[in-house]
Amino acid sequence: MSRVLTVNPIACDAHGVCADLLPEMVTLDPWGYPVIVAGPVPPELDEHARRAVASCPTLALRLERQPRRGR
Ligand code: SF4
Repeated sequence: MSRVLTVNPIACDAHGVCADLLPEMVTLDPWGYPVIVAGPVPPELDEHARRAVASCPTLALRLERQPRRGR
């Protein structure tokens, strides 16, 4: 099952750790808040995504299951 990266904008304090650890999927807007690439996390980035989630100091970043479509 694929997973997507999400951010809780209320909890996020714009530390930028996620963009440092996962630049392939996260960039920062002018205020330092993350902009996340839409869609599932590619398998080759799964470990990096998990590390970014674990390193978020405010627990704002999450990996959530994405239900399969077309069923
Ligand atoms: S690491 Fe967490 S608090 Fe920092 S910018 Fe990313 S989501 Fe926000």
